[in-house]
Order: sequence, then C-alpha cells, then structure tokens
Amino acid sequence: TTVATVGPYFQRFVELWPTVGDLAAAPRDAVLTEWAGLGYYARARNLHACAQAVVADRGGVFPDTEDALRTLPGIGAYTAAAVAAIAFDRPAAVVDGNVERVMARLYGVTDPLPGSKPALKKLAAGLTPAVRPGDYAQAVMDLGATVCTPRRPACAICPLSAGCAARRLGVAETLPRRAPKKARPQRYGVAFWAVRPDGHVLLRRRAENGLLGGMMEVPSTEWREARWSVEEALEHAPAAADWRQVDGAVRHVFTHFGLELSVLAATVESAARVDGRWVARHSLPDEALPTVMRKVLRHLGADRV
Ligand code: SF4
Repeated sequence: TTVATVGPYFQRFVELWPTVGDLAAAPRDAVLTEWAGLGYYARARNLHACAQAVVADRGGVFPDTEDALRTLPGIGAYTAAAVAAIAFDRPAAVVDGNVERVMARLYGVTDPLPGSKPALKKLAAGLTPAVRPGDYAQAVMDLGATVCTPRRPACAICPLSAGCAARRLGVAETLPRRAPKKARPQRYGVAFWAVRPDGHVLLRRRAENGLLGGMMEVPSTEWREARWSVEEALEHAPAAADWRQVDGAVRHVFTHFGLELSVLAATVESAARVDGRWVARHSLPDEALPTVMRKVLRHLGADRV
C-alpha cells in the first residue's frame, strides 16, 4: 500500500483517535468504516485489537523491543522491527521490498526471491548501525523507493555506489531476481441486490474470520472456483423474492485470487424475513463496505445517492 494511498487515511485516523486509548475505546465498526477502501481488512481489526491490548495489558504504553512488540495482535517481524527502530531507535533490521532490492544489488545476490529473503535479511542486519538505527532504517527504505528504484536506478547519485556489486557488474536492473509467479486463481460468486419498496437496500456483515472479516457486504454466495448457475445461487439468496439477473459482472483482484461477481436483483417486501440489515441509500457511504462491494454499488448505479 503506497504512501500516497495511505496518507489521507492516516491523517483521518489520528484526527479521530489521537491516542492509543482513543483508538482502543472506539467501536470496531467505526474503525472498519474509516478503513474501508484500503484493503487488507485484517490490518484494521488487528490495529484495533492491538490498541486494546496495549491499553488493557500495558497501561497504554507500547513495549519498546522487537520481541515484546511481536506479542501484540497483528505485529509480525517487519512491523516489530519498524516500530522498534523508528519509534524507539533500536538497532532492528527493517526489511521491506525496497530494502530487499537494495541489498540484492549492493551485494550482487542472484538467488531469486522469495527464497533469498532470509539471506537478504541477514545482509540488512549486518549493515544496521548501533548509532541512529531509526534514521538508518528510514533512509535505506527511502533509498530503495527513490534512488535504487526497480527500473533505471539512479546509481550516479547513490551514496552506496562505490561499493555496489550490481553497479560494478552492470546488472542492477536485473536484480533482485524473482521465481516465476504462479497464475492467480479465479473465483466466482453471486451478489444479491435486494431493495425494499421504500428504497432501503439489504447489507450483511461478513463472518468474523476469513477474507474481509467483519466488513459489510451486499449479501453474496461463497466465492468458489466454479461458476454458479442461477438456480444454485438462489439457494443462498438472503430473502425469498423474484430475483432477476443484472447485465455484466463485477471484477476485482485480491492478492491471492481474482473474483468475478454476477448480480441478482429483486424488490423485497418490507415484511419479508431477510438475512441482513436494511440500510437507507443515503447512508451507504457510512457503511464499512470494502472496495469490491463499492464496485458492486457502482455497477448498479447505487453509489450515486
Ligand atoms: Fe542501487 Fe545503483 Fe545504489 Fe547500487 S549503486 S544500491 S544499484 S542505486
């Protein structure tokens, strides 16, 4: 997720919840709603759970070592190292994709990613200084982002150029090598667009565990590898109604698979039993709807309220 994408979200988060205590006290739904559109929703749930753990177990004070940070919800090796280095100036090796690229080039590592990750991390750890490690961590990430870029690295202005193996050998742009990617699998689902006579639409909360857990959705079938027939899909409809197929489909790419959602639409009587919650159209922007579901709204013209 790029800085440009995250920036406005970050500003909004710190305005709404300026301290870890404020975030811990926030309703989780409010956190998910503010996160909507960023993807990786487990991060939002973990961020909230982490704030609650820091407040409940540690008096609202973050631990300052990698090991202790890793005991908090959602904090893995990378985040623990980044927080330890940047927030607490500990000599931790912070290794993101930018740093991997710099290390692979600086040391001329030709083994492909992801297998070479442990070796690259070791090299990064070996360079981490005891003095100002937080500044160093940010500098090396920024060097990768702005100078040692994937294409056309600016070696002429790079402070590491004198000792850089890739520059010497003229192979910078070929590193780091990557093992060929597996094709991204495709999945299919059917979304149910249910509208009440007064214009309210039916939304549902997704299961807590799993993809987009806890977020709202236009009720949909399971997302599976085989296409759905209408008859099959109707067994999972959130209400009994006269469903009709909407033209076209909604496509979205997740990290590990592509999704194609077809849409069935119906008017559902106010008194009907439904699986979900009715929401006024003008309130749709306030719901914790992930990007894929906002695409469904766009597909139906329902984002214009
Ligand atoms: Fe990257 Fe070039 Fe600097 Fe080497 S000299 S680290 S390839 S920018």
